[in-house]
Amino acid sequence: METIQDADFARRYLKRNLIGLAPVVLGFILLWIDRGQLSGLDFWLAILSFAVGVGYFAIKERCFLNSYRCPRCDRLLKQTSDGCDEPLAYTCDDCEVRWKIGA
Ligand SMILES: [Zn+2]
Repeated sequence: METIQDADFARRYLKRNLIGLAPVVLGFILLWIDRGQLSGLDFWLAILSFAVGVGYFAIKERCFLNSYRCPRCDRLLKQTSDGCDEPLAYTCDDCEVRWKIGA
């Protein structure tokens, strides 16, 4: 069993995170700039943007981490990290590769 660092994963992961964070940041900035001065619709739009962003981020994070595909055989792999402090890892029995993700 060889262990390979999936370097491209970090890039894909970052891209997804940035997309998910955009509404969160936008909502936060709107709320922060006006500091409670927002009225009616503007206020709720900012809150909505923030909430949707956080929700999207949380759901995507879960789905993404649970759906890692082996870069070699495209098989859906389950997470096989050793512990909380360990970097994420997914083992493909077919290829006999342990794909490591993150630093
Ligand atoms: Zn594989």
